[in-house]
Amino acid sequence: MHVLITGGAGFIGSHLTRALLERGDRVAVLDNLSTGSIDNIRAFAHHPLYSFAIDDLRNALVLDRLASQADAIVHLAAAVGVQLVVERPTETIETNVLGTHAVLAAARRYRCRTLLASTSEVYGKGVKAPFAEEDDLLLGASSRSRWSYAASKLLDEFLGLAAHREFDLSVTVVRFFNTVGPGQTGRYGMVVPRFVRAALRNAPIPVYGDGTQSRCFCHVRDTVRAVIDLLDRPEQTAGEIYNIGSRQEVTINQLAQTVIDRTDSQSTIHYIPYSEAYAPGFEDMQRRVPDITKIHNTIGWAPKYTLNQILDDVIEFERPLSVADDTTG
Ligand code: UDP
Repeated sequence: MHVLITGGAGFIGSHLTRALLERGDRVAVLDNLSTGSIDNIRAFAHHPLYSFAIDDLRNALVLDRLASQADAIVHLAAAVGVQLVVERPTETIETNVLGTHAVLAAARRYRCRTLLASTSEVYGKGVKAPFAEEDDLLLGASSRSRWSYAASKLLDEFLGLAAHREFDLSVTVVRFFNTVGPGQTGRYGMVVPRFVRAALRNAPIPVYGDGTQSRCFCHVRDTVRAVIDLLDRPEQTAGEIYNIGSRQEVTINQLAQTVIDRTDSQSTIHYIPYSEAYAPGFEDMQRRVPDITKIHNTIGWAPKYTLNQILDDVIEFERPLSVADDTTG
């Protein structure tokens, strides 16, 4: 298969690129390097089945050329990270909506099988646990910029499902729940790399709010396996939405303590009010647990990695970097 990955230089995109190349697929990456990094894809540079274009999705000519050569498109390019979304809402909305619009238009022209990445953010402030794909969605007020991310990804989902219904395009939507693993940057607010880096430096662990909020962290390798299995099964999965995430729930306090224990760190936990960490009036989600019955029943997928295994993988990846940082000052 020839797969175009938008956002292929990002955290999930680069892991997906590696997995597809390993099984012999041809991969073209399109990424504007806004939040992705050339470091993530350096290793593939000379791979015979790999090509890379540094460009924006909204460059219609480039997207058209790449789509014309592809059998499938995995659309991962999006604004990422709650911090970025709060700081730059206009960029978030435009990147998500206009980017997805452009991808779907190109996919329709060349009849590409398409997989759209969405997010557990779309479940918003719902208090149900676990969240299932057919649940109602409860977003906060539009005056709170956090919700612009969920609203824009939701519009992406609508666009994708509409293209399936109206134009018979093979589109599958996936909702990622807190994907983590080696190579994720903490620059855009992601909690696991931030805690691990702080712990390795014996620096304070910044817990936002009171730390009783919980999440389920899924290893990127599990996530990528789900994406590939869904991509491979268009007949069963076109026109459908799937949650992809772990069922192992942990509070942010427990996460901080586990990271301290597993790195043998001298760090202590520091509590930071949400208003200081993000913006006044910021609303967090107290719980976010995925119902993964649907994907399990359709393709037999379930995550394999435990939280401790995930943390050990991240720690192993970050440890040499933290030593290098200390020696270079
Ligand atoms: N968080 C934290 N300290 C940090 C970054 C995040 O306590 O340095 C909290 C954040 O408020 C949220 C959880 O960790 O409750 C997960 O945050 P992340 O940004 O990783 O993902 P989210 O679930 O918010 O999309």
